Amino acid sequence: MGGDCILCGKCLEVCPLLAATGREELGPRAKADLCALLAGDDSLLRGEDAARLAGLCLGCGRCRKVCSQGVDVPGLVAALRGAHPDFRGWLWKTWLTHARELWAAGSTAARLIPGRWRPEKLGPLLKMLAGLKGGPGLDPFLTPTTFPDTHRGSKVLFFAGCTATHVQRRWLAAALELLDGLGVEVLPGDFGCCGGGLKAAGFAAEAGDMAARNFEVWRAAGRPGVVTLCASCLSGLAAAGEMLSGDEADAWAGALTPLSTLVRSVSFRLSDDAPERVGYHRPCHADAGDSDFLLLREALGERLVAATDKECCGFGGVMRLARPGLGDQVNGRCWERLGVAATVLTGCSACAAQLTATAPDGVRVGHWLEAVG
Ligand code: SF4
Ligand code: SF4
Repeated sequence: MGGDCILCGKCLEVCPLLAATGREELGPRAKADLCALLAGDDSLLRGEDAARLAGLCLGCGRCRKVCSQGVDVPGLVAALRGAHPDFRGWLWKTWLTHARELWAAGSTAARLIPGRWRPEKLGPLLKMLAGLKGGPGLDPFLTPTTFPDTHRGSKVLFFAGCTATHVQRRWLAAALELLDGLGVEVLPGDFGCCGGGLKAAGFAAEAGDMAARNFEVWRAAGRPGVVTLCASCLSGLAAAGEMLSGDEADAWAGALTPLSTLVRSVSFRLSDDAPERVGYHRPCHADAGDSDFLLLREALGERLVAATDKECCGFGGVMRLARPGLGDQVNGRCWERLGVAATVLTGCSACAAQLTATAPDGVRVGHWLEAVG
């Protein structure tokens, strides 16, 4: 995946796992080296070792973004997860035995797994996890006052994502209300999961099925814009575009739109009891311009007092199951940066779940849509 590593070290500067642990053997360059060594001969690694290695990556993609050679470390790790015959069994076994300890992240993850992919025997556990409550959420403090006509009359599909569809229905309601205020017509379309989490976990074929279904929904609607509220969903949908070719691939890439880019044109009034200090967690999968941050900076002004930059929330998908201790170290660095704010906003479902589960006492976390109402 990509070219050969030239040992420039750029990826070492951005890897949150390396930053939190100081262990270069956990960094992207070491993983790229190891995967190159193993290329074409999976038998070099025993199942247990493959599982261990496959668990040592947050899948944040920060190293891929800065690599001039196109080395795709999270892609290599995902391929290792998918290629090794023992990995799938290990993953479910680990989930079964450790999900209780990780209930906060696990409860969200349980909801994110589409029903048809759930192994039968895990049904009761996943049901229990899915029923657990998250944090208290936020009381709205940003009221829309003026909607410009810029987008009035346009037609889009809305990709809500698994979390907003099945768990955080208030995000969905707030998003649809904003689109309605903007005069944007939401076309009917039954999207599935973006497939990003499945692909990162090594379930490439299943992720491909999800993507194919989503492309069909988009084509049937006449290839309109696709608006989404979650940074990771947007990233997963963009990555799925690799399955398309030519003009259609360009059209898909151009159609994907973060909700916040539309909402930036809305004027907001701050309520009297709005928090004085608000933090912003930048998801690893934020779009290139980080439109959620730009929206919040305009809406909140000087109340936005802290924003993560290099810090990852530590959710890490598979790594959360494989090496929760490492994820905790990464998460700790994130809270060091955000700790000055009593309210923290973000624009990613997984980050919101992880930060809600790990927030210090007195700190409330939510998707930025929870602040709107
Ligand atoms: S940025 Fe790319 S080329 Fe440079 S060390 Fe990392 S993987 Fe190798
Ligand atoms: S994907 Fe993230 S955690 Fe994994 S090696 Fe790259 S920067 Fe590090």
